[in-house]
Amino acid sequence: MDADHSERAPAGRGRRAVLLATLGAGLAARAGDAGAAVHRTAAHSAVAHARHSLRAPAIVGRAAAPLPLVMLDPGHGGKDPGAIGVSGTYEKHIAEAAAAELQRQLLASGAYRVAMTRTDDRFIPLEGRVEIAHAHSASLFISMHADALTDRSVRGASVYTLSGQASDAQSAALARTENSADRFGGPQVHANSPEVAAILSSLVSEETRRGAAHMASSVVDAFRPRIGLLSHPARHAAFVVLKSADIPSVLVEMGFMSNRMDEAALRQAGHRMMVAGAMKQAVDRYFASAGGVTRLTG
Ligand SMILES: [Zn+2]
Repeated sequence: MDADHSERAPAGRGRRAVLLATLGAGLAARAGDAGAAVHRTAAHSAVAHARHSLRAPAIVGRAAAPLPLVMLDPGHGGKDPGAIGVSGTYEKHIAEAAAAELQRQLLASGAYRVAMTRTDDRFIPLEGRVEIAHAHSASLFISMHADALTDRSVRGASVYTLSGQASDAQSAALARTENSADRFGGPQVHANSPEVAAILSSLVSEETRRGAAHMASSVVDAFRPRIGLLSHPARHAAFVVLKSADIPSVLVEMGFMSNRMDEAALRQAGHRMMVAGAMKQAVDRYFASAGGVTRLTG
């Protein structure tokens, strides 16, 4: 397109060639593909040299791409028990055990590196969890929970992505509860006002948002055949822990501690193994697709 234009307007082509030759490497690199138009000009060799020397180190120095790093975030911990089940189970223990099982399965596949925001029973503020993911340059962030709802009859898994506008009242209430987890760390400003929710949401790039949505639908697809789901299981709300600008992030509610059957199931290692298996399958699907692959180089 640009080359054709240059053929019909030699004066313009000449001016640009001189500019490129004069300003050198930086501008030549920024000209990108448009540089093809100047290959037939007097500036050819200078530009080609500049582009070659710019590109060479990237090619020569490229080692085998590292395995993608999946960041697992077991919810709550330490002085924050999370939801307390109808028979007294603490959400923090369920989250930790399920994350440890998912870590085991992901590592066993040999396809991923895995890092955890916590591997023991300790309190970590929500922002700290996001920071840990950034420190590891994670490709994907998965927060794992089993919260409580006021309606104890509601059971099933669900997955949440960040949005300034909650998909429904239940998700808005969940995000409010989750965001208030930081109260265990002392008094501070909570992210529960509509203004803060909108700001949180605006931090996330469009690419990250697409990645998170893709991961959320992968989780729903992987869960559907074997694990009970809420109706409309892919939901969104303003969860602070999902605010990373450039790491696709999801929060998985593996079930609800407020429901007797969900609580009983999540207490069993066999059930947690099945949940982790479905989540591992979702991670596989995520990275097998184009959306996931672009994150490998990020
Ligand atoms: Zn939770």
